Amino acid sequence: MAVPGRGGGSVPPGAPRETAQRELFSVDAYLREFDSTVTRVDREGGRVALRRTAFYPGGGGQPADVGALRWADQTVPVTRVARDRDDPATIWHWLEGPERLPDENAGVQGLLDWGRRHLTMRTHTALHILCGVMWADHGVAVTGGNMDPGKGRLDFPLPSMSSEFGRRVETRINEEIAAAREILVEFVGREVADEDHALIRTAANLIPREIDPLRVIDIVGLDKQADGGTHVLSTAEVGRVEVTGTESKGKGNKRVRLEVHEAGP
Ligand SMILES: [Zn+2]
Repeated sequence: MAVPGRGGGSVPPGAPRETAQRELFSVDAYLREFDSTVTRVDREGGRVALRRTAFYPGGGGQPADVGALRWADQTVPVTRVARDRDDPATIWHWLEGPERLPDENAGVQGLLDWGRRHLTMRTHTALHILCGVMWADHGVAVTGGNMDPGKGRLDFPLPSMSSEFGRRVETRINEEIAAAREILVEFVGREVADEDHALIRTAANLIPREIDPLRVIDIVGLDKQADGGTHVLSTAEVGRVEVTGTESKGKGNKRVRLEVHEAGP
């Protein structure tokens, strides 16, 4: 099964070797600690690159992870993570206090701020559920959005919007959470992806051809999209979603804001 393991679990079939070995977040969203080696040190920039990392570097609306690196009896906060602009294969980890950097080739342990990351995974998945509900019920595809840990927003090409509409959408999202739909991470070859109607409607066919295979997040039976981010294993894990706002951002552009909460009565 193409599911992300809970820390060292199975790698989704079709995952490019290089990606699976270096970008651990892309094949195992539940990995929160990992061992690695420092491959580059930028003392001026106060940052290091690692042979492999579980820190998500940001992208697709999902914020980057923070956490810490541990080596030689010290633990130093990782305050920012991002891909190198000119060399996207390199992921930089900024450390608190540029005077405290490990040496090149040093062995380090990476520790994610898991509370923040898991909340972000629940939030990201909640936004995909919103996409699925809006397509299934209203036939509109998302045009833009953003998220922070615990809350996010998406825009849709709708003629009108109301708080009543927001309440209906909230009910539908929580129904899909209650349905405990399985969520798969799949690596799909371009020829197959470009024929998949669910992916075409989320504009996956507009992604540059040289990206092959596409990483696809499939909320089985509800929503399927090409996506680099980290997600939970089942819609049930999202908890409870509250639609906190509905706004008009202009003619034919309406915004839905949501927050995720712990599952409860
Ligand atoms: Zn996404």
